[in-house]
Amino acid sequence: MFIEPRIGRKKLPEGKGQIEIICGSMFSGKTEELIRRLNRAIIAKQKVEIFKPSIDKRYDTSEVVSHDDARIRSTPVNFAEDILLLSGDCDVIGIDEVQFFDSQIISVVQKLARQGKRVIMAGLDMDFKGKPFEPVPQLMAIAEYVTKVHAICMKCGDLASFSFRKTSNEEKVLLGEKESYEARCRKCFYEDLT
Ligand SMILES: [Zn+2]
Repeated sequence: MFIEPRIGRKKLPEGKGQIEIICGSMFSGKTEELIRRLNRAIIAKQKVEIFKPSIDKRYDTSEVVSHDDARIRSTPVNFAEDILLLSGDCDVIGIDEVQFFDSQIISVVQKLARQGKRVIMAGLDMDFKGKPFEPVPQLMAIAEYVTKVHAICMKCGDLASFSFRKTSNEEKVLLGEKESYEARCRKCFYEDLT
């Protein structure tokens, strides 16, 4: 379990922010872990803002919703830079589905951290072909804390870190209904990859 390195209510001083990223495949509980960390900050009366790319309209436009229906209010934004404008004086910033932002997100989260904010992101680290999903690999590199969470392979029951697409659609961004994907281990992923 991730232990928050910052305890107490005192604001982080200017330049002392930090970046955390939670990554993994579909069905690995990334959003649940993001929500868990954010809820703990909210309970500690820290000011929390949550953002997600407006491209992700799967479930609800104003809430980060995970597959198990844990939910928390969020602001959909069109561009990474909107987060800078909207984050104001908050202490903690959550960003869900971070893989759908363009590479601007890298400088945005760097700026937020330098302002003394704690930035917690969640996103897919690989696409449906098993390739690194930019900009997540770069975000992992600049983060103080990287947490990789795993799903369970829907074929064999081992730990899974790949998102297998069951349809033949070649679009990189296929806003996935659960039915379009399966979590797979390495072996089962490559066995059926066409
Ligand atoms: Zn498997």
